[in-house]
This record gives sequence, structure tokens and C-alpha cells, in this order.
Amino acid sequence: MRYNVAQLLKEASGATRYYQLDVDIGGLDPLLVPVEHLMGEIAMLRTGTGVLVTGHLVTRVELVCSRCLTPFEAPLAIDVEEEFRPTVDVITGRHLVMEEEDEALWIDDHHVLDLTEVVRQDLLLALPLHPLCKEDCAGLCPVCGHNLNEGPCGCTTGDVDLRWAALLDLKLK
Ligand SMILES: [Zn+2]
Ligand SMILES: [Zn+2]
Repeated sequence: MRYNVAQLLKEASGATRYYQLDVDIGGLDPLLVPVEHLMGEIAMLRTGTGVLVTGHLVTRVELVCSRCLTPFEAPLAIDVEEEFRPTVDVITGRHLVMEEEDEALWIDDHHVLDLTEVVRQDLLLALPLHPLCKEDCAGLCPVCGHNLNEGPCGCTTGDVDLRWAALLDLKLK
């Protein structure tokens, strides 16, 4: 996701480029298990201070249900909106004093704007904290671990029997 923006940096504020993204993001981050490419359109707008990148990007990832631990696929979408700053003046070649501290937002000294780190962070933030394979996922039986989405396991009856057994035991004493 690297773009040479030398030409855009030479243009006046307001100049815009559009790019279609279709990127294999496998290996981007160990926490991401993409099953499709990352797709969408991004706009690069020349601002007074740099290049503003905006865009809506979508992919599909494999998640693991937090209740039943079953893997499932779900769409994942991000809205990118970041301003990148040049580290070098594109006309004079002079290095600039960087006010922007996040190096992920620096356009390097070959005028290459790299979206990779921003996209990686946005995708991680978009991941659900408690993924659910479906809203009403029944989860796993705490006793035997059976996936209750596939039907009851019989432990409930077992629990009742155990409680009755305990009562009977008390009475007998
Ligand atoms: Zn589930
Ligand atoms: Zn059970």
C-alpha cells in the first residue's frame, strides 16, 4: 500500500487523486485472519501541510466466537482518515522539521506515502472485542463443553439429579 505522491505534493492545495485498492492483507498482522482482499477506494487530497487520505475499505476476516469458540467469517470495514506529512520538501529536497510525531504518518524522503501501518491499526481497532457467531449464540455447556447451538447435552438433567441426591442425603442423615 505504497504510493509515490511526489507529483501530488507539487500541486496546489485541493488537488486530489483517487486509487482503487485491492490488496492481499494476509500476513499484515497475526491477529487478522483475512479471507478476502482489502478492497475499496481511497482519495488523496493535497492540503496546505501534506496529504489527507480518506477512504472506506472492506474485507472479510475469520473470527472465533467468544461464546462457543467456533470460527466464523464476518465482514470488517474501516474508514481511513489520516493526514500524512512530507519529511522532505518536494521542490528543494530539504529535510523538514517534523511536528507530526507518529512516523506511520510520514511521507518518506522518496515521497512514498505508505498506508500499511494506518490500515493495520484501523483494522485491529475495527475487530469486535467479543465476536459472536450469531446474536443468540447459546455458547458451550460449562460442564461438558458441548456446543449448545447443536442442541442440549443432557448435563442439565444431571445437575437436577445431583441436587436431589444431595437433599436426599441430608434427609437420610
Ligand atoms: Zn457462537
Ligand atoms: Zn453438558
